Formats: sequence, structure tokens, C-alpha cells
Amino acid sequence: MSGEFDGLVAVVTGGASGIGAAITRRLRADGAVVAVFDLRPEGADADLAVAVDVADDASVREGVERVIAEFGRLDILVNNAGIGAQGDIAANDDAEWARVLDVNVVGLARVSRAALPHLRRSPAAAIVNTSSIAATAGLPQRALYSASKGAVLALTRAMAADHLAEGIRVNAVNPGTADTPWVGRLLDAADDPAAERAALEARQPHGRLVSADEVAGAVAYLASPAAGSTTGIGLAVDGGMHELRLRPRS
Ligand code: NAD
Repeated sequence: MSGEFDGLVAVVTGGASGIGAAITRRLRADGAVVAVFDLRPEGADADLAVAVDVADDASVREGVERVIAEFGRLDILVNNAGIGAQGDIAANDDAEWARVLDVNVVGLARVSRAALPHLRRSPAAAIVNTSSIAATAGLPQRALYSASKGAVLALTRAMAADHLAEGIRVNAVNPGTADTPWVGRLLDAADDPAAERAALEARQPHGRLVSADEVAGAVAYLASPAAGSTTGIGLAVDGGMHELRLRPRS
């Protein structure tokens, strides 16, 4: 089989579930060798699944060393692991702010800096970060989460500027509300899960949740050697939620 990622090795953080699992499937289908880094790697459908906590620097470094020991190279890094937070600006205490930023923002920095020496040696180096519609639109009751994803988008641009000359492209995807186990857990916790799902679907102009495979397709494009002139962008995969202003459905 020949694919556009033939001969390339990728790491996908948070690759055991939801969007990360779809990214892993897609990159492997297109020829990449994929290592998943996840808190709970059991059951990940990957060439290598490593127990890595992106909030723990030693664990991240060991994970990257393991990939290099097994496959000898690292070309593509997908920083996708993330956790949620709910509430307005007063809802979370300092410990929760530190915990969420540590995973969603510093986690991305930890994995990227461990990967950089290897990415610099790749002829097709790319980093793709999972940001969110929460970075580009104000969503209710998502203050801390939005701050973390806004930081991911800002970091994407800063990293793209720093590493362009080294041949490393850095981009982000901004998914709308996606149909993953994460959103399933949120719906299960709602007073009326069916009404909550209907409200989330109605918030997106295309009237449904985004699929994990749709996000994976966007990640695959940004990670691909075919996207050699694309760096520093946030690609929305949100059914038009960020850009469109439709009239209410009648
Ligand atoms: P998910 O909960 O289904 O999967 C997240 C994965 O990340 C899990 O396998 C989990 O074990 C792993 N993970 C969590 N903390 C980790 C850590 N410290 N170290 C390593 N792995 C860790 O969630 P998902 O919906 O697939 O979300 C994936 C990414 O997409 C997240 O960054 C999330 O913020 C982002 N996102 C999700 C949506 C959505 O609606 N689902 C929308 C926009 C952005």
C-alpha cells in the first residue's frame, strides 16, 4: 500500500479515545507508523501505545525516547490530549486552573520540546495542535477551558514562527462540539441529555455535532507533506460555527 505518510512516524497524544483515536486511525490508514501517548493507552489501535501523562515531564521524555528506540525517527506530532473545565471565571479555584493549564497548555510544550530535536531531523516535520471553537468564540460556562485553548492557538502561531526556518510546520485544528466520549460524558451528566444534545446540535450551523473523523481529516491535511505552504493557521472544523451568521431555522 502506498500513502502520503509512508515512511513517516507520528506521535498522537490522547490517541486512545475520541478525536485522537480517529487521528491515529487516519494517519495509519494513510501510511504512517503511529505511537499513541495516553494516560490510559489500553486498547489504543496503534503501532505503539505508551502510558504517558503529558503533565509529567519525565513520563513525556521516556515516551519520546521509546518511540525513537522503536522506530528511529519522529516526523509528526499531534498534540491532542486535553481535559475540560466548566463554569464562569469564578467557578474554578487556583488548583483547578493550574491542573487544566498544566495538561492543555504546558503539556503541549512538554511534548513539543521533547520531540523538537527529532523533528528537526525530519524532511517532513509537522506539529498539529488540537485547539477548539472555544478559542475563537465566546462560549458560556467555559472560561478556564477557553483560556487554555486560546493559549493553544497563540502558541501554535508562536511555534510556527520560531520553527519555520527549521522546516517544522505548526498548525492547529479548531473543532466545534464533536461526537466523542468526552461529550457523551457531558451529556450523561445533564438533567435532560436529549435536550442538551439538541441544543449543542442547534448551536452549529450545520445542525449536528462534528464527527471525530472530520477532525482527523483536517489534522491529516495539516500534517501532510502536501500542506508544505501551510503554517501558523487554526483550521475550523465546526460546521460554520465560527464564520457564519445564519437566520434562525423556521
Ligand atoms: P476524549 O476524552 O474522548 O479523549 C481525550 C484523551 O486524552 C483520552 O484518551 C485521555 O485519556 C487522554 N488524556 C487526558 N489527559 C491526559 C494526560 N494528562 N496525558 C495523556 N493523555 C491524556 O476527548 P476528545 O473529545 O477526543 O478531545 C480530544 C481533544 O479535542 C482535547 O484536546 C479537547 O479539548 C479537544 N476538543 C474536543 C471537542 C469536543 O467537542 N469533543 C471540541 C473541541 C476540541
